[in-house]
Amino acid sequence: MIELTQVTKRYGQHLAVDTLDLHVRAGEIIGIIGHNGAGKSTTLKMIAGLIMPTAGSVRVMDNDMTRDSATAKKFIGYLPEESPLYENMTAREYLLFFAELYGLAKKTAQARLDSLLGSLNLPEKDQLTGEFSKGMKRKVAIARTLLHDPRLLILDEPNSGLDPLTSFFILHYLKTLKTEGKTILLSAHNLFHVEYICDRVAIIKNGRLVVCDTMDAIRASLGRREYQVVFKTDAALAYAHQDGNYVFRTSDVGAMAHTLAQISEHKWALVDLSVQESALEEIYVKLMTSN
Ligand code: ATP
Repeated sequence: MIELTQVTKRYGQHLAVDTLDLHVRAGEIIGIIGHNGAGKSTTLKMIAGLIMPTAGSVRVMDNDMTRDSATAKKFIGYLPEESPLYENMTAREYLLFFAELYGLAKKTAQARLDSLLGSLNLPEKDQLTGEFSKGMKRKVAIARTLLHDPRLLILDEPNSGLDPLTSFFILHYLKTLKTEGKTILLSAHNLFHVEYICDRVAIIKNGRLVVCDTMDAIRASLGRREYQVVFKTDAALAYAHQDGNYVFRTSDVGAMAHTLAQISEHKWALVDLSVQESALEEIYVKLMTSN
């Protein structure tokens, strides 16, 4: 769906994106994360065909975006980081205006609007978008992105400034879009959201891609997973003792299986069993603060 090969973007002397390779498969949700100024928006804009790379190749749905971006753009929905609305229009009027710009037939546009306004829980009439809350405005902007039923969604911080409930509403909505076959590339600063929704996570630091993988793979290479079992026994063991219970901790799944087998064999009382793993935030901080 998307192939970036050795993509570099300079603004004058400033190197914003540095020899970046990124491959996105159809049907995936990929989250791009990184510090302020890391190059996320620049990368998304190049994929959306809004700016050209200084060097390297950007291909979207088999189109070379430096030669012909118009063909791919028909299938792309792009949500910018800042997306002001025409505030003297209702949501329906505003979306109808854009549907006409997209060249949608009136009937198709009305059906599309009914579906989008309904699924995004937006008010139908009366209220002007200028009177909307931040969350409602963001939903209208997302609806605009979806008007022409794009196959690829490029969303620059879709949840920026939204409360937790509205954020989760949008995350669930994006998951629904994935089940409908859409490919979604988004940037975000809320790492919990990224971990929750994305199939793969791309971490960018100073314009360079540090890693792009599933959370499981990132955790396996850069994070930690620890198993803990708590049990009671009268036997004297060498494990840590806590509140009358024995606590066995290990990162080795085989050692954990062996301990569980022992507990079962000796009929010791199992009190608790848990797995602790690094959150994306922990791994991110480690990567950002290392050289
Ligand atoms: P944020 O998380 O703050 O949105 P970002 O990762 O999206 O940041 P970009 O907006 O891609 O970062 O910017 C990357 C770098 O390029 C920054 O140093 C920024 O100042 C610079 N930059 C971005 N757009 C331009 C521009 N039009 N002209 C000059 N420099 C720019």
